[in-house]
Amino acid sequence: MNVLSGKVAIVTGASSGIGRATAILFARQGARVVVAARRQHELDILVSEIAATGGEAVALAGDVRDEDHARALVEQAVNRFGGLDVAFNNAGAAGTMAPVTDLSLADWQDVIATNLTSAFLGARHQIPAMAARGGGSLIFTSSFVGYTAGLPAMAAYAAAKAGLVGLTQVLAAELGPKGIRANAVLPGGTDTPANPVNAPGATPEVRTFVEGLHALKRIATPEEIAQTVLHLASDASSFMTGTALLVDGGASINRT
Ligand code: NAD
Repeated sequence: MNVLSGKVAIVTGASSGIGRATAILFARQGARVVVAARRQHELDILVSEIAATGGEAVALAGDVRDEDHARALVEQAVNRFGGLDVAFNNAGAAGTMAPVTDLSLADWQDVIATNLTSAFLGARHQIPAMAARGGGSLIFTSSFVGYTAGLPAMAAYAAAKAGLVGLTQVLAAELGPKGIRANAVLPGGTDTPANPVNAPGATPEVRTFVEGLHALKRIATPEEIAQTVLHLASDASSFMTGTALLVDGGASINRT
């Protein structure tokens, strides 16, 4: 059974990693998907890939720090596909990694804008479209970093990701009466270009260290995180709202 049949979804950060895997899974589960990221070429490839398997998607390149882009994504969903049911506000980046004393205000603000203000802007424009449908599901990509782990040199990222949990809780309370749910997914280390294991020049020791942080002694595939996002998007999670859902391979509880 296709659990997102008849649904329309927006996925940001869809050119790569978790967003890309989720867009593919959403389409495979019957959703029509507006895919967004900054790189048009990567999005065009994704749209063709989805079409080749019988799915339907449309691409819109832009920057999640830009409110006009947030508005345009919802317009695409409504104009092309007739409405909006699911929004996976997932785009994010760790930005400059440095101790707080060495972190510039500009670097701090950029990370907050990319990871947190982007979610506020997305939700602002997505909510009226979902309300017009009588409900919907807002999903945000937070992280175990800033929730159960304080990793050095990640202050802005941790603050932004923790902020997403607060935003999620307030949205859930505000929107519950409208039938709109809001949840955050908190991945552990995931094998995408954003993870330190894939940074240019990363040694095998870096991978061993990062994998060792997790009870499962490995990091996730993007597809594993996408499965949880699908759960939050679908009616299978119809009584879940305001949740910070860890999908972290035990990184939060691991002490070995
Ligand atoms: P990724 O680098 O593969 O994908 C990030 C996506 O976000 C890309 O599509 C990129 O283009 C997009 N993006 C970044 N800045 C943007 C901007 N300003 N405007 C528009 N798009 C922008 O990384 P990923 O691991 O798939 O990251 C997805 C989310 O998961 C992020 O929010 C990240 O913080 C979070 N996360 C990742 C991990 C991990 O270990 N990979 C762990 C926890 C949380």
